[in-house]
Amino acid sequence: QNLVRICVDFMCCNLDEILKMTMDLNCLDQDLLKRMSTTLTVDQLDALHDRRDRLLSKLYMKKLESLLTQEGHQITRCSLCGRLFALKGVDRLVCPSAKIFIDFRGKVLAEHVPSAGFDINKHILGLRAKKLSWREVYWKVWGLIETMHCVVCDQSFQCSELGHCSYCPSPPSFSVGQNRGVYACCGAQAIRFDSSAGGRQRRGCCARDHAVSDGDAETLSCVAKRRQLVCLPFGGAE
Ligand SMILES: [Zn+2]
Ligand SMILES: [Zn+2]
Ligand SMILES: [Zn+2]
Repeated sequence: QNLVRICVDFMCCNLDEILKMTMDLNCLDQDLLKRMSTTLTVDQLDALHDRRDRLLSKLYMKKLESLLTQEGHQITRCSLCGRLFALKGVDRLVCPSAKIFIDFRGKVLAEHVPSAGFDINKHILGLRAKKLSWREVYWKVWGLIETMHCVVCDQSFQCSELGHCSYCPSPPSFSVGQNRGVYACCGAQAIRFDSSAGGRQRRGCCARDHAVSDGDAETLSCVAKRRQLVCLPFGGAE
């Protein structure tokens, strides 16, 4: 066991050198790959020079496996809004389609509802069929699992939606004495005194990046390094 440990550490420290050699790396068994993927950080993986992809995909596949087996990381689809989310996010995230519920402490709840039939493995196979690499699949899934909190809209959001802090660039205009008005930017209806929304933010037609506090700085920098892989485009008002 100790020898395996030493061997794994040695390989992880010298991976760039090993990849330069022409030796056959298919001899590495699943267990060894798993140990290597646990030892290496994502930043080390992304810094790897592996042009012919002899190891990178295999290591990312193993990293994805262990990511998905962690507590609360099971991914499911919301049966109300259709979004994918990890179970650990359910009490933090706001479902745009859920009925508002106010608990006994006066806290506004609008939670996603897990649908029973969702299979993450099928979903991953679908992404692979679209020719996404294991690295790309890993970061897509990671972006669904990890969440941050925005200090501007005061909502928690999935890292995949970093750029989705929505707003309307022009304020709504109301005719005198009317409770209903309209946003000039997108024509969306505005209600002067809207009790039905509870604490939930109305989704605007434009979006900018959510603003996070120092507590989320590490996660934010992780997203910033591979934003193209993690983030989904903003779909506009709903
Ligand atoms: Zn939902
Ligand atoms: Zn608008
Ligand atoms: Zn925000």
